[in-house]
Amino acid sequence: MSRPIAATSRRPDIARAAVPELPLDQRSVTTLKGVGEALAEKLRKLGIESVQDLLFLLPTRYENRTEIISIGALRPGDRAVVEGEIQLAEVVFRRRRQLLVRIADGSGFLTLRFFYFTAAQQAQLTKGTRLRLYGEAKRGTLGLEIAHPEYRRADSFDAQGTEDSLTPVYPTTEGVQQGRLRILTAQALEQLNQGRLLDWLPPPILQELALPGLIDALHYVHRPPPGADVDELSAGVHPAQRRLAFEELLAHQLSLRILRRQVQSDPCWPVRPAGVLLSQLRQALPFAFTSAQERVLSEISVDLESSSPMLRLVQGDVGSGKTIVAAAAAVNAIEAGFQVALMAPTELLAEQHGQNFERWLRPLQLPVALLTARLTGKARQSALNAIASGEVPMTIGTHALFQAGVKFDRLALVIVDEQHRFGVDQRMALRNKGIFSGRFPHQLVMTATPIPRTLAMTAYADLDVSVIDELPPGRTPVKTVALPESRRHEIVFRIETAIAEGRQAYWVCPLIEESEELDYQAAEATFGTLVSALPSVRIGLLHGRLKSAEKERVMAAFKRHELDLLVATTVIEVGVDVPNATLMVIENSERMGLAQLHQLRGRVGRGAAESMCLLLYKSNMSAIARERLQVMRETNDGFKVARRDLELRGPGEVLGTRQTGLMTMKVAELSRDADLLPRVQSTAEVMLNQHPDNIAPLLRRWIGSKEIYGKV
Ligand code: ADP
Ligand code: MG
Repeated sequence: MSRPIAATSRRPDIARAAVPELPLDQRSVTTLKGVGEALAEKLRKLGIESVQDLLFLLPTRYENRTEIISIGALRPGDRAVVEGEIQLAEVVFRRRRQLLVRIADGSGFLTLRFFYFTAAQQAQLTKGTRLRLYGEAKRGTLGLEIAHPEYRRADSFDAQGTEDSLTPVYPTTEGVQQGRLRILTAQALEQLNQGRLLDWLPPPILQELALPGLIDALHYVHRPPPGADVDELSAGVHPAQRRLAFEELLAHQLSLRILRRQVQSDPCWPVRPAGVLLSQLRQALPFAFTSAQERVLSEISVDLESSSPMLRLVQGDVGSGKTIVAAAAAVNAIEAGFQVALMAPTELLAEQHGQNFERWLRPLQLPVALLTARLTGKARQSALNAIASGEVPMTIGTHALFQAGVKFDRLALVIVDEQHRFGVDQRMALRNKGIFSGRFPHQLVMTATPIPRTLAMTAYADLDVSVIDELPPGRTPVKTVALPESRRHEIVFRIETAIAEGRQAYWVCPLIEESEELDYQAAEATFGTLVSALPSVRIGLLHGRLKSAEKERVMAAFKRHELDLLVATTVIEVGVDVPNATLMVIENSERMGLAQLHQLRGRVGRGAAESMCLLLYKSNMSAIARERLQVMRETNDGFKVARRDLELRGPGEVLGTRQTGLMTMKVAELSRDADLLPRVQSTAEVMLNQHPDNIAPLLRRWIGSKEIYGKV
C-alpha cells in the first residue's frame, strides 16, 4: 500500500538542502550524493534521517579484505582474500550438479565449489586464469574449500586491489544494499572531518576514562585500519565501540535521572504518622520483622515523611516478606490521614492480598476494599462510593484500579506489587489517580525479580532501590531435582508420601504454545489422570479459564487445607502463599524461563518443613534448557538465578515489560557493557553538576525524538 507523501512525519528540524554550516544532526541524508526520495524513504524507515543518524548506524561485523592471504596460511573458519591460478575446473555430479574449481598459489591449493553457476561463469573459470576471491574457508572432502566465493579475475584488477580498511558489514536493511551503505557512510565520514559533529563529553572526562574522542571513534568503527583486531571489533569491545556504548548508556542514565528530578520536584503530602497503629499491627503479628524488613521499612518511612514524592523499588527474593512491609507503610499513611491503593497483576494475587490486609487491618478498625472483576453491580458501586468519599482507607485491586469509575478522595500512597508485570504507563496512570489538590502520591513498587545491581542502577535510575536481602528465619532451602518424563510414575509416590505427612503439593501443568485453550485442556487432562492415580487424595484444579469466584473458592479451599493437591497452570506463578505446601512438580520445565521457574518454586519452602521442587523435562531439550535446569538445581538464591538468566537471555527479557527503551539501544548491550555502568553513573553526576548544557543535545542524539521512556 502506498502512503501519501504528505502523511509522513519528517523531523521538522532537518534541512534537506546542503547547508555547509549546519551540524550533522540537522543535515538531511538527502544532502548526500545518490540519495533520492526513494532511498531517503527506505532509510527513514530505519530511523535514519540525518547524516548524524547514519553515522550512528554501526557495522555488526567486519571483513578483512586489506591483505591477500597465502593459501597455505588459510585455516578453516577464516574469511579472507586469496589469489591464485586455476589448475582445474570441472562440472561434477555429487548428489547434485556442481562446478568445482581448484586454485593454487604456490603455497597450497583450495577448492571453490559452486552449486549455482551460469554458462558464462563456467566459460570464464578456465585453467590458467588468475582469480582474486573472498570467502569463508571450510574443511571439505577435497581439503580446504570455499563455497560461492566473491571473485574477480585478478588480471582485470588494478595494482592496489585490496581495500585500505576493514570492510564494515552493516545491519541488514531491507532494500538498502551493503555497497550503498558503504558509499553513504564514506560521504558521512568526510563531512565528519569538517568538524560538524560535536563531542558532548568534556575532554577531562574522556581523559579520565581513557576512551577515544567521538570523531576518532566513529572513523574507527566505520573504517577500521588494516591490522585492527577483527575479533575484538566483532565482539563489540574495542575502545572505539566502548566509547560509543558509554555515551549511549550515559544518555539513558541522564534521561532517567532527569525524569526522576522532575517527579521529585512535584509536590506531595508528607506522611507523618504517630506510629500507634503500626505498633498495634506489629503486636498482632505471629512473627517479628527480619532486620532486612526493618531496614527497608525505615527507608520507606523516611521517604514518606519528606516533601518530595517517594519513588522506591523494593526488591526481595520470593518469600522474603515484602507484603507485610507494604502493609506497614500503608498503615502509617492511613494513620496520617490518607488513603492507600495496592495494585496486583492477577486477580488471584489481589484476592490473596485482600485477605491478608483484611486480617491485618480489620483489628485496627481499618476497612479494606477489594476491587476486582468479580465485584459487580450494587456491591461495586457502593465500594466505589466508599473509596471516593475517603471512608475506605485501603483499596486493593488489579489494573481495574485505574479504570475511569475509580476515584479517590486523598490517595497519598500507591503500592504496585510484582511491578515487572506492569508497564510504566499503568503505574503512572495509577499515580495520576492520586493527584488531589495538586499533590502527587508516593509510589512504592515491589518486585520479586531480582536483577543484578549494575542492571538495576541503569534500568531503575529513576527509582531508589531497597533490597530485602534476608529470608524470614527457619526456612529450609528447597531441594530441586530434575527428572525425565519417563520417571513420572515416581512422582506419584512422592506426592502420596508428602500428603501422608500432612503436607500439600502443587502440580504445575505445561504451557502449550501460548494457547489458553490448550493450556486449559492439558490441565484438565492431568487433573483427570491424577484423580484416578490418587483416589484418596483431595485434588483441586485451577486455571485461567475459571471464573474469578471459582478460582477464589479453589484457592481458599487449598489454603484451608481442604485440598491436598492443586493442579494448576502458571496462574499460580506470582505471589500465592500457602506455607504448608512443600512439594511442587513442574511439567515441561525445559520450556520455561529461569525467572518463571524461580517464581514457581518460590511457592514452596515458605514454612519450616523441608520442601522439594521436581522439574519434569522431555529428553530432547536444548542446551540452554539443560543449562537452566542446572542453575535451578544449583541455587535457591534469586540474585544468582537472575544473574545467570541475564547471561542466558539478555537484559530485555529479564526486565520484562518495563523500560523498553533499554532494549532498543543502538550500540550498547547491557550484558556486554555492564562493567561501564559504575562509571556511567558517576559521569552522569558530573554532567548534571558541571556540564548541564551538554545534556540536551546528548539526549537528542541517542534518544532522539522518541518518547523518553518512563516519561510521566
Ligand atoms: P514475597 O516477598 O514473596 O511477596 P510474602 O510477603 O508473600 O513474600 O511473604 C511470604 C511469607 O512469609 C508469608 O507467609 C508471610 O506471612 C511470611 N513472613 C513475612 N515476614 C515474615 C517474618 N519476618 N517472619 C516470619 N514469616 C514472615
Ligand atoms: Mg509477593
